[in-house]
Amino acid sequence: MKRLNFTVDEATLVLLNELSERYYKGNKSKTVRAALESLAAHSGHMGWIIRGYVPVETDEDTSCHTCQTPHQKGDILFRPVFERGRGPDVFTQIPSESWMDCPDCAEQLFEG
Ligand SMILES: [Zn+2]
Repeated sequence: MKRLNFTVDEATLVLLNELSERYYKGNKSKTVRAALESLAAHSGHMGWIIRGYVPVETDEDTSCHTCQTPHQKGDILFRPVFERGRGPDVFTQIPSESWMDCPDCAEQLFEG
């Protein structure tokens, strides 16, 4: 256990008091802990996320990694670029399999 010393504004203090009274019998430490856990769960876990795509001309017949639509040699597909980040659907490791998405699937990932 450690004692932390930090400053909160009046509105935050009122909220902390209300929540701790309502849910944790006035225990502010437990209230802050629950709030942080909720924030961590909501903002997702650390891992690898797809940051963008690089267009690639396929050199063999292949299929879209996401929708499995077949594509012929010479079609332009999109290879994901991974980056460390947080999110609800992160990869714990960079996927090692060959991964090419069709333009539709690549676009959809960034529309949601
Ligand atoms: Zn696809």
